[in-house]
Amino acid sequence: HKYSAEDIKEMATEENVEFICLMFTDINGMIKNVEVPVSQIDKVLANKITFDGSSIDGFTRIEESDMLLHPDLSTWLIFPWGSEHGKVARLICDIYETDGTPFKGDPRYNLNRIIKKMQGMGYSNFNIGPEPEFFLFNTDEKGRPTLQLNDDGSYFDFSPVDLGENCRRDIVMILEKMGFEIEASHHEVAPGQQEIDFKYEDALSAADSIQTFKLVVKTVAKRHGLYATFMPKPLQGINGSGMHINMSLFKGDDNVFDDTDDMLSETAKQFLSGLMTHARALTAVNNPTVNSYKRLVPGYEAPTYIAWSSKNRSPLIRVPAAKGKSKRLEMRSVDPTTNPYLAIAAILDAGLDGLASDYKLMPEVKENIYAMTDERREELGITDLPSTLHNSLKALRKDKYVQESLGKQLTNSLFTAKNAEWDKYCQTVSQWERDTYMFQY
Ligand code: GLU
Ligand code: MG
Ligand code: MG
Repeated sequence: HKYSAEDIKEMATEENVEFICLMFTDINGMIKNVEVPVSQIDKVLANKITFDGSSIDGFTRIEESDMLLHPDLSTWLIFPWGSEHGKVARLICDIYETDGTPFKGDPRYNLNRIIKKMQGMGYSNFNIGPEPEFFLFNTDEKGRPTLQLNDDGSYFDFSPVDLGENCRRDIVMILEKMGFEIEASHHEVAPGQQEIDFKYEDALSAADSIQTFKLVVKTVAKRHGLYATFMPKPLQGINGSGMHINMSLFKGDDNVFDDTDDMLSETAKQFLSGLMTHARALTAVNNPTVNSYKRLVPGYEAPTYIAWSSKNRSPLIRVPAAKGKSKRLEMRSVDPTTNPYLAIAAILDAGLDGLASDYKLMPEVKENIYAMTDERREELGITDLPSTLHNSLKALRKDKYVQESLGKQLTNSLFTAKNAEWDKYCQTVSQWERDTYMFQY
């Protein structure tokens, strides 16, 4: 919606809004929130609310800590759950320096920058349809998550097996109230696992929606006495949670990925060649946690190889059977721990590099890659996705294009945060190690 400052003030008064949440996202994809009483609305709308950036991950240095919040008025939304003190609305904000320039370490700014680059190349929209998956766990008396799943249902199961159904329906209803267009929701393959798909939107709205979505899922699950997690692989031995990213590129009303006589247009193939070329480095952005790589293993419907196919689900990129406006590429590696602003920007920019270069696109792979021998994979030029966070950071280190796409500030923050995470993990002695080695040696 295009709202003016006047519209916002009117809606706030009419709906008795008492508080306004000013939301933005840090480098780790966490939603941050500065809440102000509605009495501050003029200050909010004049972009005059400041906050201390030095306490936000990946933001600024102590000596220049004040930052400004510029709300994007089109994101105005009143939360359907009230507080005892009245209604709460939110605005998603861009971050500015006090000198009036956009803050380069703001992931939302970065996505906007890449969208502008795309528009400069003659395209109008990068449409994104995300498929976030998550688990619902039971909680203990203190409301903390346990490792008990709340059902043992399976793919597309119906109740009474699917106890998560009430919770999922509630989530869907609340999302619809908030303006989401929900296409489908279903029980996923693993017990306790759910998926809710919403209709594609332009890149920026989709990233905003993913953030709002996670917030709603967690809030509603809590009300049902459940705990929702977007951790990619909470339990070994069963599927993990991905967040497939469906994408298409539009020029006005035309989906330039569509081609009447061929499966994919030339433009789509070029875009795809960019995704394949930068696939390893993109993994550092799309799968940014230690746990992400416990999901990217063979046998659980998650990709482990860099290949594309219209025939099967084992490769990184799938071309779903769809025509016209729905013709799209589905990137299957992405998981919900990613910062959606960074992921969508990096994916788009990798595709744009494909359009501007002439990388050779490997042929489509029609066989099941998991079942191939190493020799056969080598013959077809199929390589692995990075197998650990460490390896994907190394791949990012080698890929100057993706680094430049993120910009200096974000690249540095990412390396600092993620190298520290990896080091900490490496120094941790796990139960598996004790079980395996303690009595053997
Ligand atoms: N849960 C699977 C994953 O980890 C995806 C299942 C599906 O195809 O939707 O990516
Ligand atoms: Mg799924
Ligand atoms: Mg999918």
